[in-house]
Amino acid sequence: MVEYQFQNASQKRLHIGKIICLIRSYRKHAEEMGTEPTTSPIFFLKPTSAVIFSGGKIIKPSMVQSLHHEVEVGIVIGKKGNDIERDEALNHVLGYLIGLDITARDIQSVAKKNGWPWGIAKGFDTFAPISKVIDKKEISDPNAIEFSLLINGRVRQKGNTDHLLWSVENMISYISRIMTLEPGDLILTGTPEGVGELQKGDQLEAWLSDKVSLSVTVS
Ligand code: MG
Repeated sequence: MVEYQFQNASQKRLHIGKIICLIRSYRKHAEEMGTEPTTSPIFFLKPTSAVIFSGGKIIKPSMVQSLHHEVEVGIVIGKKGNDIERDEALNHVLGYLIGLDITARDIQSVAKKNGWPWGIAKGFDTFAPISKVIDKKEISDPNAIEFSLLINGRVRQKGNTDHLLWSVENMISYISRIMTLEPGDLILTGTPEGVGELQKGDQLEAWLSDKVSLSVTVS
C-alpha cells in the first residue's frame, strides 16, 4: 500500500485509495485529440502501484513507443460518502495535489480503435507521479486553480480548473453516485490542452498554483 506525502507535517498518515481519472474534461484537450468532450464525467481507474513522488523517475516501458504527459489537478478525499449532494461535496475533500496522468499514447490508440479499456495504456508502474497534498484551506476556490507543467524549463501545459466542463462539486457528486468515495481516494480531474511526447532525460516540473510542485525525470 502507498501513503500520501503531505505538505503539512502534522497531517496523519493516509493510504492512497482508488485513483479516478477523468477524460476529456477540458474542451480544448478533447479537440486536440480529435474528439468531443463527454456529456457527463467519464473516467477510468489507475492502480496505486503506478504512484511515484517528487524526485522519482518515470520509466519508459520497453513495449511503449509514445509516452505522453498530461498534467492534472488532483482532489484527495478525506471523508467517506455516496450519493453526495453538490452543496456537501467540498466537505468530503481533504486537500489538493498536482499530478501527471502519464499515458502510453500508442497503446491507447490501439485500444481506442478496438474499443478496449485503457488499463494498460494508463497503468504501467511510475505512470502516476503526484506531489505532496496541500490542505484544502490553502485553496480559496477549487474551481479557479491555476496549474502548469514545465519540461526542461519551458512551459508546455497551462490550465485553470475554471475551464473544467464540470465543477469540482459536480464531479464529486456524480462519481459518488457510481462508487462510494473513501478517505484516500484521489480524483485526477483531467488534462488541459498541450499534451505531448516525453523523451528519456526530460525533466518535468508541475505546479499547483504557487502552492506545491512536483519534479520528476524520464528514464
Ligand atoms: Mg488524463
